Amino acid sequence: MKFIIIGSGGCVCLPKPLCQCRICVEARKKGGRYKRYGCSLYLEDVSLLVDTPEDIAHALNASDIRTVEYILYTHRDPDHTLGMRIFEQLRLEWIDYYEKIPPRSPVEVCATPEVMETLNGIGIGYGAILDYYVKMGLANRRLITEPFNIGNIQISAVPVGKSKSVSVFMFENDGRKVIYAPCDCKPFPMEESLQNADLLIIGNTFVGDTLKNDRSIGADHPLRQELHSIEDVLEIKRKLFVNDIIVTHIEEDWGKSYDDYITLEDQYGVKFAYDGMVVEV
Ligand SMILES: [Zn+2]
Ligand SMILES: [Zn+2]
Repeated sequence: MKFIIIGSGGCVCLPKPLCQCRICVEARKKGGRYKRYGCSLYLEDVSLLVDTPEDIAHALNASDIRTVEYILYTHRDPDHTLGMRIFEQLRLEWIDYYEKIPPRSPVEVCATPEVMETLNGIGIGYGAILDYYVKMGLANRRLITEPFNIGNIQISAVPVGKSKSVSVFMFENDGRKVIYAPCDCKPFPMEESLQNADLLIIGNTFVGDTLKNDRSIGADHPLRQELHSIEDVLEIKRKLFVNDIIVTHIEEDWGKSYDDYITLEDQYGVKFAYDGMVVEV
């Protein structure tokens, strides 16, 4: 399986508009691995994208992605969904539309019933934005109720928490297993099915106890209720017998640059994502 982390950023892009902190100034100057688009993943084998942050069009261009046939959604939070206009940019040809030539194959929008219900709550003046794209022939909904195959790749959605409004995705092929859990995955679903993965790509994680502007995250800090520390991630790795970890959904608030993360990789024994990172498993 060939994955490309086309967006490794968090709730805001990096550089953060207006911000003059060291990390944002450096990102504007150097570009490349120093800047980050919103969080999304591409699986090249089956032309599959996970999540559509608002800058997804730029992320697809930056990684020179050529085809998208499937879009999976982990959950409805704006930083993962508000690039939904991408359906127009992927499939709509206005001249064809006026000549009544239908778009070529609609993009399959895949989510669990619980997540799909929340996606249907994302609307424009005409109602659910997904209804509009389905009616235009740009997208089709597919509910994930059990593991399913696209080509040789088996895809499973594991719900997080009781509301099941967030999914962690698992991709399996030829004895290899990759888990993608970019956001809102605390407490982590410690399911048996997730054990022995070759790779866990995980977000929802803050990095280090001192963040941007020397803000200190003490033992009782509320951030720890919401997000995993790196120590939490290492515990998940140990308990689920995961081979490798890549941390994604990296926030500007962590106050670290691409170079800082390179240094931390040795210290923590995990890898940190950057935009365009290719991972073959
Ligand atoms: Zn900044
Ligand atoms: Zn998120």
